[in-house]
Amino acid sequence: MNIILFGPPGCGKGTQAKRLVTERGWVQLSTGDMLRAAVASGSELGNRVKAIMDGGNLVSDEIVIELIEERLPEAEAAGGAIFDGFPRTVAQAEALDAALSKRSTKVDAVVRLLVDDAELVARMEKRAAEEGRADDNIEAFKVRLNAYQEQTAPLLPFYADQGKLREVEGMGSMEEVAARIATALDEK
Ligand code: ADP
Repeated sequence: MNIILFGPPGCGKGTQAKRLVTERGWVQLSTGDMLRAAVASGSELGNRVKAIMDGGNLVSDEIVIELIEERLPEAEAAGGAIFDGFPRTVAQAEALDAALSKRSTKVDAVVRLLVDDAELVARMEKRAAEEGRADDNIEAFKVRLNAYQEQTAPLLPFYADQGKLREVEGMGSMEEVAARIATALDEK
């Protein structure tokens, strides 16, 4: 099964993706994690994207599409992919459809996590204290939320029109949200 975890920064996509890896054996494909790894390694790609990410802006579609395509065989071998933080633009969604269709597979479900804006800011501040991510500060966070509203939210009708969108309440404990996601995935 190929699923997309969808929602604004701080909604819990990464946390829930990791649970699904443990529970279902699928592969998490997080473009944010891949890009942070590139930055940490000091690679040419990392140097190119660092300032863009630190400011909270989206890196180019070409870069993230290439990163995702490289990992599709691995996800296929595991029986499923959990896309986390990808796609973030309509162009990325179209490229994903094309890449999956070349491999005779498709996006099965898009799970949207619903979380209030005030809770998103509180979670970001907590993570800033714990992890020290360069884009977890109020200025970059505002840019990230704005990028979500402007560039990523338009994907909701894209997937709703295909009957793939499943909405899940993202407030509450990690366990509560995980249980709701499991229900959403298991319904036909
Ligand atoms: P968030 O907590 O904001 O959802 P991510 O870890 O998914 O964070 O992404 C962090 C940053 O990495 C983004 O602000 C952006 O700069 C870059 N990034 C990650 N995924 C994408 C993508 N699919 N398209 C463009 N930029 C991306």
